[in-house]
Amino acid sequence: MDEKILVVEDEKDIARLLDYNLKKEGYRTVLAHEGSSAALLAAKERPRLIILDLMLPGLDGLEVCRRLKMDAKTASIPIIMLTAKGEESDKVVGLEMGADDYVTKPFSVKELLSRVKAVLRRSAAAVEKLEIYRAGGLELDCSRVLVLLKGKPRNITAREFELLKALMAAGGKMLSREALLEKAWGLDASIEVETRTVDVHIGTLRKKLGAEGKRIVTVKNYGYRFES
Ligand code: CA
Repeated sequence: MDEKILVVEDEKDIARLLDYNLKKEGYRTVLAHEGSSAALLAAKERPRLIILDLMLPGLDGLEVCRRLKMDAKTASIPIIMLTAKGEESDKVVGLEMGADDYVTKPFSVKELLSRVKAVLRRSAAAVEKLEIYRAGGLELDCSRVLVLLKGKPRNITAREFELLKALMAAGGKMLSREALLEKAWGLDASIEVETRTVDVHIGTLRKKLGAEGKRIVTVKNYGYRFES
């Protein structure tokens, strides 16, 4: 897992409790005890998630949230706010500002951890949806499951799309036929698909991609790699 989480909380006991339990779950943690260092730390450390207490000395949590959302480096980092009873209006403002979720104090560690997991899962799905790979006149748009050649959609099959996605996502790294089979056929691969099938699909994919098809390079006796 090894995902980094920034905890912004001035109450030392709560900070320690969160730190301990997040680490126990396999996350890495970065701690900030006041608002003014939180935004800077977030920009420097680029955590996958921020747990932000609203009642902080100096800059309060809402102001920190506002700054995080205004800075391009930190705007996409999901935020879970920690609020106390009686901070209902702050909670609403925080959510309007772009915080993803909130937990009211006193909270159960178990509940907070399940919120953390849920937010991380959602944001990972959102990132995947935004995935676009480009090389020369070739563009692979994962959210729309679309391959564009010089801006024009090209008809390819779902398998061919998954193959091309695996190759482009590997960033030039060689992928074995077995690895490609697993990525493009997934569970279906267990029903007797031969690695030669990969070669056949790569062949048709290359043809459909025209000149850009040359980017799919054969690695003899092994598999393929994508040249961007
Ligand atoms: Ca506090």
